Amino acid sequence: MALQRPKILIIYTGGTIGMIENPVTHALQPFDFSHLIENVPKVQLLDYDIHNIQFNPPIDSSNMSPQHWSDMAHAIEDNYDAYDGFVVLHGTDTMAFTASALSFMLENLSKPLIITGSQLPIGEVRTDGEENLITALQVAAATDASGNAMVQEVAILFENYLWRGNRSTKMSADNFNAFRSNNYPELAKIGLGIFFHEEALYRLPSKRPLKVRYEMDPHVMFVNLYPGITPEILSHQLHTPGIKGIVLKTYGAGNSPSEPWFTRLISDANERGIVILNVTQCVNGGVKQSLYETGNCLSQAGVVSGHDITSEAAITKLMYLFGLGLPPETVKKYLQSAICGEVTIQQ
Ligand code: ASP
Repeated sequence: MALQRPKILIIYTGGTIGMIENPVTHALQPFDFSHLIENVPKVQLLDYDIHNIQFNPPIDSSNMSPQHWSDMAHAIEDNYDAYDGFVVLHGTDTMAFTASALSFMLENLSKPLIITGSQLPIGEVRTDGEENLITALQVAAATDASGNAMVQEVAILFENYLWRGNRSTKMSADNFNAFRSNNYPELAKIGLGIFFHEEALYRLPSKRPLKVRYEMDPHVMFVNLYPGITPEILSHQLHTPGIKGIVLKTYGAGNSPSEPWFTRLISDANERGIVILNVTQCVNGGVKQSLYETGNCLSQAGVVSGHDITSEAAITKLMYLFGLGLPPETVKKYLQSAICGEVTIQQ
């Protein structure tokens, strides 16, 4: 009996991969999927059953919003049983935010959701888009020795690597290898072949039906520390109307000024029910709040350690947890555990 061809759904949201030059302004702007796919005739060589859905209109990912995440989640939920895997074509600018958001919203995901894009448009002679699209399709179709999907999570495929989506960050505006997980190993290395690191791949503790959480609460923000920040500026930020959660971007291993005005403002925000998550400004390593006196002050002020979580995963995790309607103390509890492989917490 012939084996079934892998059935893959491509969701085209926009991004450089499908852009063309505006003849008047010469700026790149998103274009439709038929243009994109016509430029990758090699897709026909894959013996896959490929279908597509496209955003209308396709967008530059700098315009990405929780509503768009919800649209993607809908497309996946509606087609979940009918497909073996999903490929999302997306701009690189906010790709790591989308990957993180979808990893939380698609609870119990156990099929591949591979997000890719490119640095050069598909119509350019030296484009990286063709290779990225073809490899993403191959990763979405890959199975292990037992015939199960190799990837069962949201992942970013870019040039030579496959990364866990909620561990990824855009590292370069120029290089073809634009993404990296600074605190987690690659899921696969792409070279002459696709070499999966099976021990790094996420697996659900037990198989459960997909449950999509559409509600992402946008009442969250970043507060980035820098030498010279004044009490007026910090106080203004911490009193942003309606704010529920803050990702506090601190120095090094999670340190902040230890001056009394600083601790008082942070502690006051905590007492007003604002959840503050401590994430380092460093690209590699994580928060160890009890290592220095300056970090310890934050613990005493009610700040929660973000350990080695990325900024993208931190802000979208807050949106997701508040979107569930949880009270601040419960949100803090969930921030201290990994929901879908987004953080390493040493017990
Ligand atoms: N501005 C583009 C976008 O994020 C950049 C890209 O796709 O590389 O949509």
